[in-house]
Amino acid sequence: MCNDYCKCENVKSITTEECEFGYWEICCQCGKRIEDGFHYYNHYDGEDHDDIDIF
Ligand SMILES: [Zn+2]
Repeated sequence: MCNDYCKCENVKSITTEECEFGYWEICCQCGKRIEDGFHYYNHYDGEDHDDIDIF
């Protein structure tokens, strides 16, 4: 689906791209998503589940 991630070695600044479940970190230099840069909105109390399903 989306296999085109940022490949910049030194990302100086990022922005975010919000979606339904969370947001992506976006490289400001190339405008692409940062791999593993996805953050869920719903972080439960005290527990930070880090299981990201890859379809
Ligand atoms: Zn980049």
